[in-house]
Amino acid sequence: MALSANLTQPVRAHDSTDAAPGWTFAIHGGAGTMDRGRMTAQQQAEYKAALQAALDAGSAVLRNGGSALEAVRAAILLMEDDPKFNAGRGAVFTWEGANELDAAIMDGRDRSAGAVTGVTSVRHPILLADAVRMDGRHVFLSGAGAEEFASDKGLETMPPEWFATDARRDALERLKAEKLSAMDVDHKFGTVGAVALDSEGHLAAGTSTGGLTGKRWGRIGDAPMIGAGTYADDRVCAVSATGAGEYFIRAGVAHEICARMRIGREGPQVAADAVMAEVKELGGDGGVILVTPAGEAVFSFNTTGMYRGRATSGGVNEVAIFTE
Ligand code: ASP
Repeated sequence: MALSANLTQPVRAHDSTDAAPGWTFAIHGGAGTMDRGRMTAQQQAEYKAALQAALDAGSAVLRNGGSALEAVRAAILLMEDDPKFNAGRGAVFTWEGANELDAAIMDGRDRSAGAVTGVTSVRHPILLADAVRMDGRHVFLSGAGAEEFASDKGLETMPPEWFATDARRDALERLKAEKLSAMDVDHKFGTVGAVALDSEGHLAAGTSTGGLTGKRWGRIGDAPMIGAGTYADDRVCAVSATGAGEYFIRAGVAHEICARMRIGREGPQVAADAVMAEVKELGGDGGVILVTPAGEAVFSFNTTGMYRGRATSGGVNEVAIFTE
């Protein structure tokens, strides 16, 4: 078993000689400009505790023989309720001052996928995305139609105040007053994602976000786009991304990483780093997490930090914020 000393090296769930099948789990809570100097020790501790809670929730599912999909849902549910992250409660504001939520989930077994965009009242967009996936007639629902589908499925809704936080409102006001870009005020993207390999050998990926501060005109980012911010295929990998969505869409990041691994036979770290380098070349910042059927858990980001964590049946259990 390989226990990594830091979070820049891949880890494996298990040796091929292990008798018991292994599981691997990884999460992110967004990438971005993260300086040790700009975060107090208290803030760092709070983020690490939130990441650990989400990591533990997914790991517990996998340890108890649950599925990769269940683990992804369990971790994202917690982060959607946590106002520190840009997903569900605590999502960023649109130009008009609303919280419009995007989410996607994908099952590596059959590549069934569900995604939603522009949702304003559903407490857990990741559960709505999964309801779309299970329903199976469509993959991607938007706005009022997605809300109607949520109500048909009996999903929990919340009033606008639930999602709105002062910190995110201040960011919108600053963006408008100082004519800043979303990149200037968001710094840490704060989108959440999870990827898992379960002990049956199946993969899943999920991502949930409020998008970018000040987004307009019904803008949709990469997170809910299958193949851009979210992808899972049992044959190769499960990926969740965070960052400047426009560039991740143009590079088709999540699918491109899986394709490089499947067709190009690249290793997960090589493939992820190569695609993140392409994103950088196009002008975009951000990062990805991925797991493979062999139990590797990999991070790649071109920012100074990414809220992240990973755990394996082999005993790895770590969370981190900065480039280590
Ligand atoms: N990728 C997301 C988007 O562009 C933003 C983020 O990662 O926080 O909508």
